[in-house]
Amino acid sequence: MRLPPVPPGTLLALSDADAKLPAGQIPAKSELREELDRLTERIDARQRALHAEGTRALLVVLQGRDASGKDGTIRKVFGPLDPLGVTATSFKVPSEWELRHDFLWRVHAAAPPRGSIGIFNRSHYEDVLVVRVRRLASETVWRPRFEQINDFERILIENGTVILKFMLHISREEQRERLQARLEDSEKYWKFNAGDLKERDLWAEYTEAYQETLALTSTALAPWYVVPADEKRVRDVLVARTVAETLERMDPRYPGPPPELEALRKAVAK
Ligand code: ATP
Repeated sequence: MRLPPVPPGTLLALSDADAKLPAGQIPAKSELREELDRLTERIDARQRALHAEGTRALLVVLQGRDASGKDGTIRKVFGPLDPLGVTATSFKVPSEWELRHDFLWRVHAAAPPRGSIGIFNRSHYEDVLVVRVRRLASETVWRPRFEQINDFERILIENGTVILKFMLHISREEQRERLQARLEDSEKYWKFNAGDLKERDLWAEYTEAYQETLALTSTALAPWYVVPADEKRVRDVLVARTVAETLERMDPRYPGPPPELEALRKAVAK
């Protein structure tokens, strides 16, 4: 089970069927749990080295429809890490002050500092998704943003940040079940937002907006991955594997010994 990056320029179909692995390919729950534990240990080991190295960062962008599991992915994949090396930012409806700046202003300010992993729960991609679908700005405003986003991400990359972008892809039926669960479980009432029903009515419009966004902003340096997210454990393992392998490719190194190591050892021993 490994996620392929979306090839740049490719218009995917994003059908409901793609939100699940084919029957027969879904490992047993216990296997998925053990696999996730192994992967988060690998991520943890590399995160500590990334933090100590202090020269590069990893940015993980999570996008998806309502109830697609962005919060759950953060909890399961990044929850086991040292909180000192992780920043998670949720992007909500922009404030009046934020709207008086360019759309990337608040996003750039939340980019992870060197030595850390930054997670975006929603992101600058809302500015070509909800803004487009809800007609919060005209096409002359949102369309140029695809290029602006690619330029922005290139700037981050050229300054030491590796970027991974995940679209958590759920089916319409799975979303219905999860939204219904928010009305049945007293611990989930707070998650229900009547506005989500309006978004659900715009399912096809969001599908089109996501498809074009993936085609225009999946780049060799900042690829998108479409995660079949109907089955939560599969989702977590697929995201964790991509993150673990990316960190291993980055291969962060602990700084070597200080040149005056022997003298320092003697000084400490006094
Ligand atoms: P869940 O996915 O679990 O339902 P959520 O991510 O929707 O949670 P909320 O606080 O309910 O969390 O919603 C945040 C809202 O902010 C979303 O509806 C999102 O579309 C909106 N939003 C984020 N960024 C922008 C933006 N740049 N412009 C307009 N709306 C935005």
